[in-house]
Amino acid sequence: MGAWGLGLFQSDFDYDILKEIEDLLHLDPDKDGSLRIPKDVAALRKKLNDTGIQMVMNKYLGKIVNPPKEPDWHPAAYAVVIFTVVCIEQGCTVPQKLLDFTSKAYEKVGLQRDGIPQVDNALKEYEPGKQWDCGSLGLRDTIAAGKTDESDLVLPGTLMNTTSPEWGQGHKVLFRSLSLIVKDGYHGDDACGGCGAQTMPRGGPLMKCGACKKRKYCGVECQKKHWHWHKQLCGKELKDTLPKEGPPEKPDTAQSCAHYYRNEYKAMLAGE
Ligand SMILES: [Zn+2]
Ligand SMILES: [Zn+2]
Repeated sequence: MGAWGLGLFQSDFDYDILKEIEDLLHLDPDKDGSLRIPKDVAALRKKLNDTGIQMVMNKYLGKIVNPPKEPDWHPAAYAVVIFTVVCIEQGCTVPQKLLDFTSKAYEKVGLQRDGIPQVDNALKEYEPGKQWDCGSLGLRDTIAAGKTDESDLVLPGTLMNTTSPEWGQGHKVLFRSLSLIVKDGYHGDDACGGCGAQTMPRGGPLMKCGACKKRKYCGVECQKKHWHWHKQLCGKELKDTLPKEGPPEKPDTAQSCAHYYRNEYKAMLAGE
């Protein structure tokens, strides 16, 4: 499972769901392209408007009314929200029922951080027949965009493909720990924690952190520069940096939201 950004369609998870929908619609990658990158936009739009949207609604709205007993790897409410955005992107005529559900549910389906404002914008910009780019970037562009939030220092760029794509707010603590590990150990245990040098400036083995005797440095300058990160881990194991107990206060993954909000989703769908 990979994630290279915190927006829509920046994780394998979103693409797995789109793939499931493409299979349902019998889209041929060679002939039709994909939902997000169609070979022929007008043809895809027609296919979706004619029968496709209804087929997807039948599948997923049914699962919202009767949630499966077992945890659902591709939760229906989440799938509906991202499918609605795809339809808006391609300028489809989106049934009011989908727009209403997505408007009510999108903040509660477990989208990653940047996905929420992207859905918000897509709903505001929606016009039948008008294509809308929700602004998700590919891997290189995401990194090049130089985001500033601390979380972006790890995701994307430095720790790709290690965090669950459904990473959400409740994982902040875990994320922070991972972030520290990355920053503390970015240059590897055998290199200077500050700059990655393998030896002291004039050669010879690196000095070690006096407290933990593990983290190595090429000099006091690098040690000082790096202390902000290392002091939070110095002498500790990863498990010591995690909260002792307690799940996130609120569900945040697509799967946990699917369970927690299942009755709310039903009510949203029924227009209550
Ligand atoms: Zn150094
Ligand atoms: Zn240390």
